[in-house]
Amino acid sequence: MAKYDYLVVGAGLFGSIFAYEANKRGKKVLVIDKRDHVAGNIYTKEVEGINVHMYGAHIFHTSNKEVWNYIQQFAEFNRYTNSPIAYYKGQVYNLPFNMNTFSKLWPDVRTPKEAKAKIAAAIEEAGIKQPKNLEEQAISLGGKEIYEIFVKGYTQKQWGRPCSELPAFIIKRLPFRFTYDNNYFNDAYQGIPMGGYTQIIDKMLEDIEVRLNTDFLAHREELENIADKIVYTGMIDEFYNYQFGELEYRSLRFETEVLDEENYQGNAVVNYEEYEIPYTRIIEHKHFEFGTQPKTVITREYPATWHKGDEPYYAMNDDKNNSLYAKYKALSDQDGKVIFGGRLGMYKYFDMDDTIAVALDCVKKELQ
Ligand code: FAD
Ligand code: UDP
Repeated sequence: MAKYDYLVVGAGLFGSIFAYEANKRGKKVLVIDKRDHVAGNIYTKEVEGINVHMYGAHIFHTSNKEVWNYIQQFAEFNRYTNSPIAYYKGQVYNLPFNMNTFSKLWPDVRTPKEAKAKIAAAIEEAGIKQPKNLEEQAISLGGKEIYEIFVKGYTQKQWGRPCSELPAFIIKRLPFRFTYDNNYFNDAYQGIPMGGYTQIIDKMLEDIEVRLNTDFLAHREELENIADKIVYTGMIDEFYNYQFGELEYRSLRFETEVLDEENYQGNAVVNYEEYEIPYTRIIEHKHFEFGTQPKTVITREYPATWHKGDEPYYAMNDDKNNSLYAKYKALSDQDGKVIFGGRLGMYKYFDMDDTIAVALDCVKKELQ
């Protein structure tokens, strides 16, 4: 008999929820992670009294009440509302696209009717009926001027490809709004856990054995039979030795700095729209929790080409990669021992609320 009921590979949000729920039901669980800390990409660390989001800005937002109630068990959330600023050629604009953006861009536009007429004319002029890619999708939603200022440069540097070679779904997430409302999200619930995200995972893993600095693939022989079942939240193609080929990812590089000033940019998130500026955004972490510390911590986020061995931050969910993933998925469906979960195991861009929803779903199927 194996020593554990479950080996959970990855102490990120998915793995930790599964481990917590399994442990609660009396299962014996071992969690491993190759990093030297828990929490995966939602890891936050205190620097100068500020909770720094070590893997990029993480704003919790959801319309799923079950998910919202679930996460509240582990932390209290503040009233933070995401309202990024867009910087373009010396000017600043509000995001998402709303009346504040339109009236700054077109000073003669003040009412929703005027803004709608202006955008409708731009859409009409572009004449795109059935958008085939991200460029056409963006232009068909807002016209060429909006596309060129707010989408073209940012998206091209983020994804390392021209917008005409990217799938349209990436941009569908950008809302258009004809009110003076700078809230980036349309969700019913939003906030930042006061005290950071790491405490959430620490609470989930409180009574569970965790081994850090432990790569499953480097200790495969020893670990493969240590438990009756494995919950795997690493890359599915790597797990299967790339037998059908490699999935593509997009990576990022974070440059973090402590500045000896109180308030650097006046907002948590500033997007840099120009292609020529090599980073996509600067995060000033203290503003997530309305901090008043004497110093500040900022992070520049540089998109990067992904090579084997780099951190795979974003799945490239285009048709080619999705159909390759489908092959791995079919293989894993025949595997009675390993369950794949999370954004790398399921090769999908999941926000935190999606990750929680799929983890709870997995718990229901596996443990109830
Ligand atoms: P991960 O957090 O990646 O955890 C997987 C863990 O598995 C990692 O710790 C990894 O080290 C470990 N692992 C992998 N392979 C192995 C192995 N072979 N052996 C041992 N351990 C292994 N979501 C939001 O809701 N709002 C946001 O604002 C937001 N912003 C984001 C910004 C960025 C830059 C990124 C990249 C993501 C963002 N997300 C956001 C998404 C959020 O990070 C994910 O939903 C969530 O972290 C996914 O959890 P996970 O457990 O699936 O994956
Ligand atoms: N995007 C853009 N301009 C912006 C912000 C976003 O063109 O100022 C595009 C870009 O292609 C990005 C996508 O919208 O990949 C989704 O952006 P969001 O900020 O929602 O996602 P995140 O990168 O935080 O996951």
